[in-house]
Amino acid sequence: MDLRAYATPRNIAIALSAVVIGTAIVRRGKGGSRRVTGTRRRVLPGGSKPVVSRSIKTLHPTFQRSIQTLMDRMRARGFQPAIGTSWRNLAWQREAVDDGRSKVLFSMHNVTDMESGAPAALAVDLVDKRWGWGGTEANPASATNPQTINAATFFKVLGQEAARLRLGWGGNYSRKGVWSNFGMGWDVAHVSWKPETRSLLASLERGQWPAGLGPVESVTV
Ligand SMILES: [Zn+2]
Repeated sequence: MDLRAYATPRNIAIALSAVVIGTAIVRRGKGGSRRVTGTRRRVLPGGSKPVVSRSIKTLHPTFQRSIQTLMDRMRARGFQPAIGTSWRNLAWQREAVDDGRSKVLFSMHNVTDMESGAPAALAVDLVDKRWGWGGTEANPASATNPQTINAATFFKVLGQEAARLRLGWGGNYSRKGVWSNFGMGWDVAHVSWKPETRSLLASLERGQWPAGLGPVESVTV
């Protein structure tokens, strides 16, 4: 019999800052073969407390490889890329909608393997360590803020490199807010596995993996 410890909503809620999560414990059969018996437990993703991750390991493994390449290329071009956020649970997303920071209850950041409960985000927000999102509370982002101007150079190149890897980029979204001064859409840090269509989001929310993406068993961070 196999024993498996999955990432449960409770584990995820407990893991507030460190983030997650379960390690699959697999008993090996004769000859070292890995056997799966019984039906997988379906775990609803999330937990009731908001959780946000900055780890690359909470990205879907396929997307993770693309982001590793993207970050390497950004470094090669003289930048200092860092992950602003990767996976978020649904409770975080709901809070963001309540606060007016987001308009959607499900995004590519929220993707979770519905059978194992493992985080498998298909979006990540990348910033340069030196400039972040281009401002601070005391000195907010603006068209004339040097930090914003520097951050804009990072985000422009991020968009070019994301396109080379056929990834989606939030700088292509509608032009509003401070980044429109630099010819970019409002979500410049946002990179996704594919451009986000309604039908792709709907199938991911239902727990269906599109062609090219396999299930994720567990994540150990
Ligand atoms: Zn994002």
